[in-house]
Amino acid sequence: MIDDNIDDKHKIDSPQLYSPSLAPAMSDGYMGSSLVVPTEQMSDYHQPLTDGFARRLTYLRLSITDFCNFRCEYCLPNGYQGKRSDDELSISEIATLVRGFAQVGTKKVRITGGEPSIRRDVVEIIETIKQTDGIETVAMTSNGYKLGKHIANWQAAGLDQLNISMDSFDAATFHKMTGFDTLPQILADMDILLETTDIKLKINSVLMAETAFENLVTAIDYVKDRQVTYRFIEFMQTSDNSDLFFLLSMLSLILSLITC
Ligand code: SF4
Repeated sequence: MIDDNIDDKHKIDSPQLYSPSLAPAMSDGYMGSSLVVPTEQMSDYHQPLTDGFARRLTYLRLSITDFCNFRCEYCLPNGYQGKRSDDELSISEIATLVRGFAQVGTKKVRITGGEPSIRRDVVEIIETIKQTDGIETVAMTSNGYKLGKHIANWQAAGLDQLNISMDSFDAATFHKMTGFDTLPQILADMDILLETTDIKLKINSVLMAETAFENLVTAIDYVKDRQVTYRFIEFMQTSDNSDLFFLLSMLSLILSLITC
């Protein structure tokens, strides 16, 4: 099964290279146990990364640290525990990795964490990825804590898209949810970003019953005269929020039974 959208340069004679049986080991865009760094032979063929249905995978999410300074109650309610890991990917490892993915068809890389802006070399990381042959778009997801310090640098380094995780427009609620009293500063920094750069801005807000309505009303007003995409994202279970996830799931179940 060959994707009609594949351009001539990437077409491969041997149908075996598109075999779904090869795909599982290569189908994970995340840096997990199934990561495959292309060998020299694979890059010669420009073998595209595909999933089990022969769909081209062109988007890579790359976590450059698992450390975060925020204490979002649904993610790291007790803050980051322990010492920050000392085996984060170096810039040269990132360069090798992204070059390998670009050779098999990755066009967009999203830099994530933890909180990626915590890394002192985040500007060089953006630049390194942006300068990789074949990479068209560099995006990053951030809590916005260091946005003000970096706006001009991120633009100069080639950042195309920025997602800010922001779960409330209310300063007190934001403080309660994250442990940081920085909402006014983040809102001001986002306005500067919009005025002074062409980085596309998106706000991610975790959908929680107690804040959803207020967020929706405020967000409609906020995006009215700003080039911003606002979206709710699903509350997901992590190893750090099992109790809260269980509690909210039970509440939701009870509410749905009552209202049935
Ligand atoms: S949700 Fe994002 S900003 Fe909040 S603690 Fe988790 S990684 Fe940090």
